[in-house]
This record gives sequence, C-alpha cells and structure tokens, in this order.
Amino acid sequence: MSVAARRKRKATEISELSEQAIACRETGHWWRRDRVEWLKKNPKGRNVAEERVLVCDRCGAERVQTFEISPILNRFVPISSPRVRYPEGYLLKGRRLSRAELMYYLYQQQQKSRQILRQVGRAA
Ligand SMILES: [Zn+2]
Repeated sequence: MSVAARRKRKATEISELSEQAIACRETGHWWRRDRVEWLKKNPKGRNVAEERVLVCDRCGAERVQTFEISPILNRFVPISSPRVRYPEGYLLKGRRLSRAELMYYLYQQQQKSRQILRQVGRAA
C-alpha cells in the first residue's frame, strides 16, 4: 500500500484510532477559534455574515459553521449546519462509534492491564 493510500485509510478497529482521537471521543474536543471570515455585507457596508472555523487543539479536527446577524433578534444565528473535518486516525471505517461503546472499550483495556500487572506481580 502506498503512503498516500495508507494516510487516507480509516481505522477499522477501535485500537487503530489515534490516542488523541480516543481522548476527544471520550471527553470532547478542545475547540479554539482559529479564524473568522466575513462573508457578506449589508447595503450600508456592514459585515452581516461570517464563517467561523474552530480547531481542536488535541486531535486537529476542524469545525466550520456560518452565521448571520439577525437584526430582529440582535444576535448571530447559524445559517448552516456545522461541518467537521476529522484528521487521520479519527474515524472508523463503515460505522459510527458511540461514546458508550468507547467507554466500554477503555474499561476492557483497563481490565486487561490490571490482569497483566497481577500476573507480573505473581511471577516476581
Ligand atoms: Zn479533538
């Protein structure tokens, strides 16, 4: 498999996910505002719509969403659903992974580690 093909490959097992992806999937992303771009001006030349890009400082995911100022509500309202671009090692191929399933996987890993430590302790 070429390097490029391997880079694009999604994980097929939870164990293949990156450490950062597992941490973000378990406890949520560390979003930081990366950039804001104004998209539209009103007839008076004032900015009225923006694209907001958030980046996760842990896994590198990017969340893009557009907002418009509502003169009626006096606030920003979303005008698009958020789009998220996930980094390599974040997504599982062909299926979703719930937080509950991930938590159970981590629990099982912890149990295995404890068992190994007990075995090592007995051997020593
Ligand atoms: Zn993240």
